[in-house]
Amino acid sequence: MSKIPVGISTCLLGKEVRHDGGHKHSRYCTEVLSRYFEFRSLCPELEAGLGVPRPAIHLRESDGGLRLVEVKKGTDHTAEMEGFIDQVIGSLADLRGYILMAKSPSCGMERIRVHNSDGNVVHRDGRGMFAEALIRTYPLMPVEEEGRLNDDQLRENFIERVFAYDDWMQNVAGERLTPQALIEFHTRHKFQLLAHSEQIYRQLGPMLGDLKSEPLADIADRYIHRFMEAMTKRVSRGSHVNAMQHLMGYLRDSMGDADRKVLMEQVEAYHRGEVPLIVPMTLLRMAQRREPIGYLDQQHYLSPYPDDLGLRNRI
Ligand code: SF4
Repeated sequence: MSKIPVGISTCLLGKEVRHDGGHKHSRYCTEVLSRYFEFRSLCPELEAGLGVPRPAIHLRESDGGLRLVEVKKGTDHTAEMEGFIDQVIGSLADLRGYILMAKSPSCGMERIRVHNSDGNVVHRDGRGMFAEALIRTYPLMPVEEEGRLNDDQLRENFIERVFAYDDWMQNVAGERLTPQALIEFHTRHKFQLLAHSEQIYRQLGPMLGDLKSEPLADIADRYIHRFMEAMTKRVSRGSHVNAMQHLMGYLRDSMGDADRKVLMEQVEAYHRGEVPLIVPMTLLRMAQRREPIGYLDQQHYLSPYPDDLGLRNRI
């Protein structure tokens, strides 16, 4: 399996590119995710020409817009950053995800402090200048802050989205788009969709019911925006139970009473929070492996990412 291209803030790789010459090494990124992700790193401040070490900068409100200025001297570096963004942003189109460093006026995804000309904080709801351009240009791309990857649910959700988006980019996007490619993608991800959002799941099926009424590219564009919107939604235990019960319906004839009873017990134990998702999911996969149902074989819900990431052990 070739690695998935994912962008990352350079300081998270342990490179000493921060304004004080330090780094913010994320071992989870370099030692775990790097087994599956081919990281492409950018340090917007360094590559915009601000150097290392460099004076600390922050976001400043000015004439209704945001500027990137030095905290002490007030030197304005907005033009350099905008020039860097213009030059690099188009080259990121093939990335399947991006991991950003938090709290940075360049890379921070959320809750970045915005100051007034006196240096006082006017609100804490800003977004780093590079992060803003990235998210605006690539609204489908899964983007997450490294700190949030310490949360089991957010980490699992981000990685699941990266793998699903990679499937789209590899098999459906651009010149690969055909009615069959679109329908097969939808089929592969049906149970994931059902778990994330039953409402969107019920809208997307009919959307693909008539692929001749308008240009296929328009339908695909609408489809993938709704699909990725659904995938960002947190999956509750109840929603996983619902999706697993749907799956069990397909395995009804191939499971003996005793196996079905054990599976039901573990689904209920998962629902009560007594065991992690991996427990009933492993039983479902065993049942499917013993007597494979073709339709379920295609379902990414049973195996949305490599097992050794251990993500379902913790949710
Ligand atoms: S947060 Fe972004 S701009 Fe700051 S050092 Fe890390 S990569 Fe560079």
